[in-house]
Amino acid sequence: MKPAAARAEIHATLVARGFTIADGSCPTFAGAIRVHGKKVDVLLEVPDTRLIERPRVHLVDRTQIDPEVLAHVEVDTGICYASGAGLPLDNMRPGEAILRILAEAATTLERSFKGRGAEEAADEYQQYWHAERHAWSLVPRLGRAGTRTLDLYKASRSDRKITIISESNMISGWEAGAPVRGVYIVDTDGRVGPGATLEQPKDLATLRTWWVAQAALGHVHWQTIEQKLLADELCFVFAANAMIGFRIPPPRSISSGVKGGRIREAAIPRMMQLVKDKLGLQRWSASDCSLKRITSRNVPKLAGLTGKKVGLVGCGTIGSHLARMMMQSGAGSDQPLYLFDNDHVAPGNLGRHLLNLENLGQNKAQALAAELQRFHPSVQIKAVDADAVASWLLLKNCDIIVDATGDWNVQTNLNELFLEDRGLHLTALLHSWVFANGAGVQSFLNLGDDKACFRCLKPEFDGKWRYPAAQHDVETEFTPATCGDGTYAAFSVDAPVMAAALANRAILDWARGQPGQRLRTVAVDLVEGRSHKPVSPEPAANCPACAALRASR
Ligand SMILES: [Zn+2]
Repeated sequence: MKPAAARAEIHATLVARGFTIADGSCPTFAGAIRVHGKKVDVLLEVPDTRLIERPRVHLVDRTQIDPEVLAHVEVDTGICYASGAGLPLDNMRPGEAILRILAEAATTLERSFKGRGAEEAADEYQQYWHAERHAWSLVPRLGRAGTRTLDLYKASRSDRKITIISESNMISGWEAGAPVRGVYIVDTDGRVGPGATLEQPKDLATLRTWWVAQAALGHVHWQTIEQKLLADELCFVFAANAMIGFRIPPPRSISSGVKGGRIREAAIPRMMQLVKDKLGLQRWSASDCSLKRITSRNVPKLAGLTGKKVGLVGCGTIGSHLARMMMQSGAGSDQPLYLFDNDHVAPGNLGRHLLNLENLGQNKAQALAAELQRFHPSVQIKAVDADAVASWLLLKNCDIIVDATGDWNVQTNLNELFLEDRGLHLTALLHSWVFANGAGVQSFLNLGDDKACFRCLKPEFDGKWRYPAAQHDVETEFTPATCGDGTYAAFSVDAPVMAAALANRAILDWARGQPGQRLRTVAVDLVEGRSHKPVSPEPAANCPACAALRASR
């Protein structure tokens, strides 16, 4: 819809609802909405008739609304009528859309009645806190009642500086010196919110009022907090709905005395005590940047790979992308993620690998480990520059082996080792591969049970695949060696990325104890490729790897 037409329609709709133009430049309309049947005056700003930038609804007179605590009302942005997911609007019918916004604003205000204002405000409490300072916390919320003492660091990397809360200054990739000050953390599984008023604490007295009103903080006495603050510690509350902090910066007379050596640090609390009623509060907020939070927030219904020891064999094109996906899904966060490869990064790899020109000539496992380590200081990646089959003793101690080599010889050897000599924890072997020049991709999970093993998928060496991912009985075509680049199978980067994605999903299903169908196939090339419904193939009677083993059981 043309902007002029949209503007005209919005205008006509609002005038019909009794609104008048309050300001023509950024069109603002004055009118009223009904909140529980009561007239409430509002100003409606429409900065963008395409409705991409959201219209804003402001209260004209806050006292027209009864509740003491009114949630979702911000001075700058007006009433927060749309939740995090946003409010989809029909831009082809801007008049209806604008009425919808007024209705949402009224509903939002109504939610603050019946004493539910405080509860509603708690959802967005971190915003209401209006923090002046912010820190990134590398330490996760405990999710239960408790207290801890951590440290605040200034960390730098080239010209970037960040403030972090951490257990130590070992922050890989960053320079961090001695801690700036201690951070006293009060953990709770409950929620914090406004006490009697939405106004944030501004000094010790109002903070005390706020503190004692918080049911979720009952396990820590106010006196403890006051002592910490007067000793110039930063205090934080890590609650289920917010991570907020506060500090009482010492007055200049004290801080310059400490710097100049005239005042001993130990004397700070006593001197602060004398002037405590005159000291202002500095409000802080924090973000949970812990590896635990990062790797679990997107998979609430899946268990993720946290706590699983994963051994990835092959750090080539599939393996590099898959390693990153597994790490983002929790591999390497509680237990190490092992990377095995004895090959080196070559120019021919770069067109579909995660690594870069600067990594040429480096061992693939080591270069990939260094790349992944950049993701988060807490991630544990261990590179092994060795043949995977020769490293079997290390591999069999993993919970799952992920074979991303796509190499028949490695696939079949790992299959045999797994069938004959599983370790104490090792329960799964997953293979991921690109089929015949990128026609399709497959992942196969072997749990060592009564279902097929990898070799059952093609029991006769010269025979056919039982579930080929290509239409025709094509063999992989190799591009002949040129310019020092050895022979290789040509396929574009999408195929290995799809293979990696397919495998990551199968691994997540395994991790949550619902492995589902073992063989998963996706056709990548819509002409050459062939898909199959996910299937758990029965063992092949003539499988050279598992038939004899099964018979002997
Ligand atoms: Zn078999």
